[in-house]
Amino acid sequence: MSVLEIKGLKKSFGNKEVLRALDLVIPENCIFGFVGANGSGKTTTMKAVLGLLPADSGEIYVCGNKVKFGETDTNRYVGYLPDVPEFYGFMSAREYLRLCGESLAMKKDDIEARCDELLSLVGLADEKSRIKGYSRGMKQRLGIASALFGRPRLLICDEPTSALDPVGRKEILDILLSVKEQTTVLFSTHILTDVERICTHVALLHEGRIAMCGGVEELKKRKTDGGFTVEVSDAKALCDAFANARVFSDGSVFFGGGDAEMYAVIDFVREKGIILRSLKRSEETVESLFLEAVKK
Ligand code: ADP
Repeated sequence: MSVLEIKGLKKSFGNKEVLRALDLVIPENCIFGFVGANGSGKTTTMKAVLGLLPADSGEIYVCGNKVKFGETDTNRYVGYLPDVPEFYGFMSAREYLRLCGESLAMKKDDIEARCDELLSLVGLADEKSRIKGYSRGMKQRLGIASALFGRPRLLICDEPTSALDPVGRKEILDILLSVKEQTTVLFSTHILTDVERICTHVALLHEGRIAMCGGVEELKKRKTDGGFTVEVSDAKALCDAFANARVFSDGSVFFGGGDAEMYAVIDFVREKGIILRSLKRSEETVESLFLEAVKK
């Protein structure tokens, strides 16, 4: 079953159409990167999923249950980390997490056990100081711990890495990766290298619609015409034979075609007795796929 399903979601603010029939399905136990430029509507979508914002039209289902604006029933399946999480600064991390447990009406022993588990997961087990002295990264980590407290089926994080330095970003990404077995993770970002690092699935929000969506590896594989580069003993012979061959300064030869051209090149070098030292397909990156999707 999908953890989240969004069908034809539309939302305008005044005459500004932010979401124009957005469709999205998020399978269980994946790490889903929700990518879009600043202002593309990622937070708007997440708020609609949480029932905090009324949609103009469309439907949202969390774990098969319909989300209704203003009602919080479906949020029992969801843990949410807003882009700028707020805490009681006078508390320690443990005190704050205890409060989360109490608000979930959990037993005292269970609360302490869950605090231990989560503080260690987010690297705050030995942190005794008050939250008001925390760095942004520490606050984000505590935010993830509090969002995970009730063992949600879906963890939604709004731009969790955007304001962090590379070390802080890596810490957050590692935590999200480590909770994959326990929950489905949906996080929004405009940092494509973060998606490349941890996401199993990705969707690109562009001009109010999903411009590209799917498994990261599958999307990369689907595109087979990204070209390839060969190193051979006689680059000139290849360039004479193939009009679109391009020689790089290191002597390797690039071809922009797909599999058919690649096999033609292999046949040619074999026929002519040219030594093939290496052959490498150009690797698609999430960024190259997205740039192409946005160009359409
Ligand atoms: P993202 O999270 O992708 O950066 P948002 O969902 O925050 O984008 O915003 C999408 C667009 O909707 C932006 O142009 C923003 O200014 C506008 N917007 C968001 N919330 C409101 C609101 N409450 N009133 C008016 N405009 C809004």
